[in-house]
Amino acid sequence: MFRLDGKVALVTGASRGIGRAIAARLAEQGATVVAAARGSNAADCAQALTAKGLRAEAMTLDVTDAAAVEQAPAEIVSRHGHLDIVVSNAGVTRDQLLLRLKRDDWDAVMATNLTAAYLLAQAAIRPMLKQRGGRIVAISSVVGQMGNAGQTNYAASKAGLIGFAKALAREVASRNITVNVIAPGFIETDMTRAVADRAREELTGQIPMGRLGAVDDVAAAACFLASDEAAYITGQVLGVNGGMYM
Ligand code: NDP
Repeated sequence: MFRLDGKVALVTGASRGIGRAIAARLAEQGATVVAAARGSNAADCAQALTAKGLRAEAMTLDVTDAAAVEQAPAEIVSRHGHLDIVVSNAGVTRDQLLLRLKRDDWDAVMATNLTAAYLLAQAAIRPMLKQRGGRIVAISSVVGQMGNAGQTNYAASKAGLIGFAKALAREVASRNITVNVIAPGFIETDMTRAVADRAREELTGQIPMGRLGAVDDVAAAACFLASDEAAYITGQVLGVNGGMYM
């Protein structure tokens, strides 16, 4: 198990699903976790962790609120003295075939999935550059690598994260800041529970391992990329997809 003692981590979209599992795993491995989500949703995640004796606190953060996102890293640094790990996980889908896709659905998906990651990384690298070290992990999707009918907006946002991370990785590599992407396949969460049974069966048929992934499969990958052991890994896309895309 990769230890993260003494590290401070921010996870967006930590109220449920993959983000919550990442927050829990980071805390279990020793990090102090700032679990961020909209409204009061983050409190539940942070409380569940502190109840186990782990170090966690809640932060109310809507990632589409640019001013709040820009301030979040500085707030964490003022409380803890440093910010070592940022996981941009918050994400939404607004699926529709392109001919019927409304501009609002395009903009909403871009704002949450891509623009927020840019704003957060920009604000987080300031303290990381001073510290001469840090870890940025963005949660993309297999859909950003292979496309999916009905998800042009989502696929574009998730592919955009990959290009963004590779470019940023080159900018900050000399300061020991790594920027990596996890591209999960089909993971059991609220997001995928919304998919109709027949479509689920079809999707499962495309996974060589023959099953959906668990949130912990993604959390384990995030913890590895956040760890000291991953110090020489940057600009990479780690697929956690049961072989769905190679
Ligand atoms: P869920 O729908 O279960 O959770 C989404 C999370 O994002 C929630 O915590 C939600 O918080 C948060 N969120 C959404 N909008 C905002 C916002 N504006 N500001 C702050 N937080 C927000 O999704 P998953 O756990 O399945 O997905 C997590 C990430 O993984 C996403 O980026 C998704 O695209 C990606 N992914 C998921 C896959 C899957 O199969 N499940 C596959 C590939 C990628 P709130 O409680 O406030 O709504």
